[in-house]
Amino acid sequence: MYMTDESVIVVGGGIAGLTAAALLVHEGKEVMLLEAHTQTGGCAGTFSRGPYVFDVGATQVAGFENGGIHDRIFRHLHCSKPVAEVLDPACIVHLGEGQEPIHLWHDSLKWEAERRKHFPGSELFWILCNQLHLSNWSFAGSDPILPIQNFWDFKQFLKSTRSVNFLTGVFTRSSIADLLWLCSCHHDQRLRKFLDYQLKLYSQGPSDKTAALYGATVLQMAQAPLGLWHLKGSMQKLSDQLLFCFLRDGGKLLLSHKVVGLSKNTNTWQLKVNTQKKQSLDFHAKNIVFTLPPQSLLELIPNNRTELPTNYRNRLETLSQPSGAIVFYGAILRSHLPSYCAGHFQLVVEELGSIFVSISFEGDGRAPSGHATVIASLFTDVTSWSGYSRSEYLYRKDLILGKILKVLNAQFALESKKWLHKELATPRSFARWTGRPQGIVGGLGQTPTTFGPFGLSSRTPMKGLWLCGDSIYPGEGTAGVSQSAVMACRQLMSEDGRELTLTK
Ligand SMILES: Cc1cc2nc3c(=O)[nH]c(=O)nc-3n(C[C@H](O)[C@H](O)[C@H](O)COP(=O)(O)OP(=O)(O)OC[C@H]3O[C@@H](n4cnc5c(N)ncnc54)[C@H](O)[C@@H]3O)c2cc1C
Repeated sequence: MYMTDESVIVVGGGIAGLTAAALLVHEGKEVMLLEAHTQTGGCAGTFSRGPYVFDVGATQVAGFENGGIHDRIFRHLHCSKPVAEVLDPACIVHLGEGQEPIHLWHDSLKWEAERRKHFPGSELFWILCNQLHLSNWSFAGSDPILPIQNFWDFKQFLKSTRSVNFLTGVFTRSSIADLLWLCSCHHDQRLRKFLDYQLKLYSQGPSDKTAALYGATVLQMAQAPLGLWHLKGSMQKLSDQLLFCFLRDGGKLLLSHKVVGLSKNTNTWQLKVNTQKKQSLDFHAKNIVFTLPPQSLLELIPNNRTELPTNYRNRLETLSQPSGAIVFYGAILRSHLPSYCAGHFQLVVEELGSIFVSISFEGDGRAPSGHATVIASLFTDVTSWSGYSRSEYLYRKDLILGKILKVLNAQFALESKKWLHKELATPRSFARWTGRPQGIVGGLGQTPTTFGPFGLSSRTPMKGLWLCGDSIYPGEGTAGVSQSAVMACRQLMSEDGRELTLTK
């Protein structure tokens, strides 16, 4: 299938791919979106079991407030955003010491009072985080380009940078643990534990492995004027709305089309694609927006090809191993849950570490009236799930399912027999569902040496091959991957001397 000079093929129909595809077709490009699965959404998709709808991965989203990245993209596309309500509290954190849980309130003053109650003497730390966050936010809101690869990128970077960003730039190589030390809060073990577990949800690492400039912002994601949001219907609504814009503007979507090879002939990329009906097809385009984890390029572009320069191949080969996830999907009658039970909880338990629990709200489209879905996820090392025979794998799966149920039953005073549905996804399931190598689900981590300016660029050394998704700045989460898609599209459009600017 041959396309014109205006043609772009977007590989992967998760939030990054859908955002890039919708933006580019809106700019007049001829865009084809290739998705291996039978539906779009990827890690932010959903699946159904009987009357229940389960969010596969993402259960809450950032960037829905006015001026947030999702809001700006939908305004740019002249489309209403999916209905969402702000979460208040965004999360209730049980550190597991028999002490009162910590509520991440949306209201900033309420959150300040909560912090003072739980972490007395830490106010300087929070003030410093707030200053860094305000600086980051003004920077991120101008759609910066990072890491810088050429003069155009540098020019955009300068346009986004304010004098305050130069001041906070001194913290570029610092970690959140460094800020704690600077503010003399490093002896507060409870604060440290809280930060370690909260940061891991966003950066894949604890305080000493999380870049200060990144951590300062995610620690304030839940508070006004930002917020974490709960989508009415299900997470799929976000994909559906992006897909609606893409198709409305003339984009072409091919589901069940799996890209199995990439190569370049002169100025044109060639993609080998397998369909569900076992057909093998060839597609050609001048530009490819690739949204799978960049590690997948190693498999898709064979070693003997010259398309992937050796340095770049080495870089991809030595990327740190992201996490995998284990996710429990359950359903229960709401009357069996305690009355306060809807929303998001982080439970820290000795045997399993942190478990992030999302319980559906009455009438939010995920369960029939009087029922609730319960999703509980934890991080795991993907390598610990490979190399097992089927029976060994099922045994391990059962074991971990039992452990998660034990925690949930104890936390919410539930009886085991009350569960109406229960199943577990492991890295093997994520590899199958999302096509991500070994089922890795995070990005490259947000350490002082890998975040932002030190990460992998959306501009690759191979002309016409652009990356976005959770391994590209600013990183994980639907808001992060959307921002990365905007960045890749701006770079791609600039090659034609055209500017893509989202309104503020
Ligand atoms: C358990 C879990 C919980 C999470 N919780 C949250 C949360 O609460 N909030 C939040 O914001 N984020 C959360 N995230 C992260 C968020 O879901 C992801 O960062 C984001 O959805 C990634 O989007 P993406 O488009 O980059 O990649 P993906 O969602 O992985 O999309 C990639 C797409 O490419 C397709 N594909 C794969 N291989 C091929 C191929 N060869 N050819 C064609 N298509 C292919 C896949 O089917 C998929 O649709 C969570 C993730 C997980 C796993």
